[in-house]
Amino acid sequence: MVDEKKYYYSEIFHSIQGEGHYTGVPTAWIRFFLCNLQCSGFGQKDPTDPSTYELPFEDFDVDSVKKVEDLPVWEKGCDSSYTWAKKFKKLMGYETPTVLASKIVDILKTDTNQNGLFLHPNSRQHQHLCFTGGEPLMITGQAASMGIYRSLEKRANLPSSMTFETNGTQKLTELFKQWVKDIPEEIFFSVSPKLFTVSGEKTAKAIKPENVKEYADCSDRGQLKFVVGASRREWEELENTVRKFREAGVDWPVWIMPTGAREEEQTATAGKVAEEAFKRGYNVAARVHVYLFGNAIGT
Ligand code: SF4
Repeated sequence: MVDEKKYYYSEIFHSIQGEGHYTGVPTAWIRFFLCNLQCSGFGQKDPTDPSTYELPFEDFDVDSVKKVEDLPVWEKGCDSSYTWAKKFKKLMGYETPTVLASKIVDILKTDTNQNGLFLHPNSRQHQHLCFTGGEPLMITGQAASMGIYRSLEKRANLPSSMTFETNGTQKLTELFKQWVKDIPEEIFFSVSPKLFTVSGEKTAKAIKPENVKEYADCSDRGQLKFVVGASRREWEELENTVRKFREAGVDWPVWIMPTGAREEEQTATAGKVAEEAFKRGYNVAARVHVYLFGNAIGT
């Protein structure tokens, strides 16, 4: 029986995965509302000093837009602040998993895929499904995702793999853990822990290797993705943090996403960060979707 509780979400869209393991794969996305962090330090002069923060989303007049897609992309603070700041809640959709599954199928429809099938009738290649946020592993996100899966299963239209793009702080419910273990489809955990020197989030709140180990115990498929800039203190924190995850038993590959990629004028910094990453033996994740489609919401 489908869970008919309703859940808040900000967007459902069709694009390619632009970062990490599944880069380039056509993907249906659902972005849930709610996050337990704020990451106000992103893009700030000194992410570790809140007195230097500028947060343009706080001054934004929500009544000046009708839908999420009309919001600007803020380059300071969390670039998805509209997925957790209360003031934006009135722009969110609110639907049951059954309706959300229908919308996901609709978004997959094109001239060559008129029924919105995850197994594309033209290429015979599997389209991916990605749950993102906000934080999609909040308790509500876990329940909604399982409901969407069950609804797609009833329609015999399931993806062969699904990603959860998470900050890695949330504990999984017993029900969710069992679901991940039981289903034949792949669950890929794309965990992006937030560094204090980059996001301003305190380590005790943002870095939870013991929780991520629980994810790894349910599915051996995942990655650790860190946003890092060029400064030495960020790299020191990165190495310390990676060590904590390794000590907890999480052996997924590490991807580095340069902070510089957020701003055109900083592409030189992005190159430097990428070089540092591969010198240290880490993978580099560029934001391919930004290069292809720009940084607009819903891409
Ligand atoms: S975890 Fe992600 S969505 Fe949540 S505040 Fe940080 S950057 Fe924004």
